[in-house]
Amino acid sequence: MVTAVRTLDEGAWVNVNNTRIVGVSDIWRLADHEVCDCDVALFLVEVFTDIGVDGEWVEARAAGQCIGCGERDTTGWLRIGRPDRTGTGEFRAVDPEGVHRPSKTRGHD
Ligand SMILES: [Zn+2]
Repeated sequence: MVTAVRTLDEGAWVNVNNTRIVGVSDIWRLADHEVCDCDVALFLVEVFTDIGVDGEWVEARAAGQCIGCGERDTTGWLRIGRPDRTGTGEFRAVDPEGVHRPSKTRGHD
C-alpha cells in the first residue's frame, strides 16, 4: 500500500512511505510527450512539481530541460513506481532510463 506520498526539499525528491524514491538530476527518456520536438526527449529533471497516486502507481510531473534540444518545460504525469507485487510491500521505482510516456491527466489509460 502506498500510504504517504509527498515531495521533499522543495521538489528535489519524491518521498513514498518515508523513503526517498526518486530525485532530481536523473535524465528521463520521454516518448509521446509535449516537452519538445524530439522523438525521444532526454529530459533532465530539475524539480518535481506535482505528485499523486493512481491506483497502485505513484505519479509525478517534473519540470526541467531536454538536453537534446535545450527546450524547457514541465512534463505530463509520469509513473514513478509502485509497490512490489510479490507481497513484500517494498516500493519499486521505475528506471528513468527506460522510455516513459507522460500522460496529460493523472491515471494512464
Ligand atoms: Zn528535445
